[in-house]
Amino acid sequence: MIPISEAIEIIKRESPSLRSEIIDLDRAVGRILAENIVADSDLPPFDRSQMDGFAVIANDTVNAPIELKIAGESSAGNGWHKELKSGEAVRIMTGAPVPSGSDAVQKLELVSEGEGSCVTIFEQVEKGQFIIAKGFEIKCGEQVFAKGKTITANMIASIAAFGYEKIEVFRQPRIAVLPTGSEIVEVCASPGLDQIRDSNSVMLRALCEKTGSRSELLPIAGDDLQTLKSAILDAAGNNSTSQILIITGGVSVGKYDFTKAALLEMGAEIFFDKVQLKPGKPAVFAKLGETLIFGLPGNPVSSAVTFYLFVKTAIMQMQNASNTDLKQGFACTGAAIKGARERDTYLPAELKTDSKATLVATPLRWHGSSDFIGFAKAEALIVVPKGRRFDKGEVVHIVLL
Ligand code: AMP
Ligand code: MG
Repeated sequence: MIPISEAIEIIKRESPSLRSEIIDLDRAVGRILAENIVADSDLPPFDRSQMDGFAVIANDTVNAPIELKIAGESSAGNGWHKELKSGEAVRIMTGAPVPSGSDAVQKLELVSEGEGSCVTIFEQVEKGQFIIAKGFEIKCGEQVFAKGKTITANMIASIAAFGYEKIEVFRQPRIAVLPTGSEIVEVCASPGLDQIRDSNSVMLRALCEKTGSRSELLPIAGDDLQTLKSAILDAAGNNSTSQILIITGGVSVGKYDFTKAALLEMGAEIFFDKVQLKPGKPAVFAKLGETLIFGLPGNPVSSAVTFYLFVKTAIMQMQNASNTDLKQGFACTGAAIKGARERDTYLPAELKTDSKATLVATPLRWHGSSDFIGFAKAEALIVVPKGRRFDKGEVVHIVLL
């Protein structure tokens, strides 16, 4: 039984890098940058007004109120490209270039336009007021985002602003999901006596999607060694197009758990088959040819937790993400919790902030790792190191889902 950290290191080591491809920027959210994004101009590209008002010379306003002559107008897309002289002001709009010679803008609310193209500035104006200087946000040639970063929707404008209509990202791994179990029937079926629906496959597919990879659902394989071997061969043999195969079920030590036996007989290299993790102890990680194989426990909560901890790591590593870690943080536990003796426990929890603005992580109703109704509300996992217990209110480490 190996520690979780060791399992993650092995997965990172064994995950091959995928090549890059060029895609449209508007399809890029969730993908990993395969190029550095570099500013091809200063931003802003000129001294820009933050307000509708008048561009002035700050020194002219020392004895405000003062009357200035309106020398012209600078609007967005149509600047006033002469030199502003002492005693003059230029009408300016938000986003318009500030004329040279001017070093401050006064907003419309603090001026009064008089007769004969004159404007009265009521208060002294500070140098630089309401001007965003050329290159203040970023200078031409500077790096905006580094290769390896995950692209979020919030980053898109900053990439588009520098002319990247298309963008180079790493390819996403193709994933096949193989459900196993003689009791498992398709979601559309009415389960007969002793049968249950295959809820894992769709969940795993959704998790793949959330992590930015495409997946294919394979037909359910019954608990039979030969059946399983031929299903694995189809999914991970030489003709397979998947780089990752997720098998759910059949990884424990029961009489009809054949996943490990099938992998061994097929000559797969098994890197680990027991992890100090609750839920998810019997998770298997192996390689057959070039295909990474994850054998995840059939219990839905174990499947989900091991997906987040292990499969996601491989998905991110294969795309050369600079950070493959799950988002982590701290919260106060909403109830007393006790960890397992020999394994680190990852407890599904709901997050809330209390009236003192403290983040509280409350463990969800927990009837064991088959309880997916409870798990449906999970927003985080509380990490309880082996042998530890926490009283209600104590600070705990959490992983965000
Ligand atoms: P196993 O890992 O095969 O021992 O399965 C553990 C538990 O998970 C059993 O109760 C199975 O019926 C259940 N299970 C296995 N596969 C699935 C699946 N695809 N969807 C829902 N439950 C499953
Ligand atoms: Mg089974």
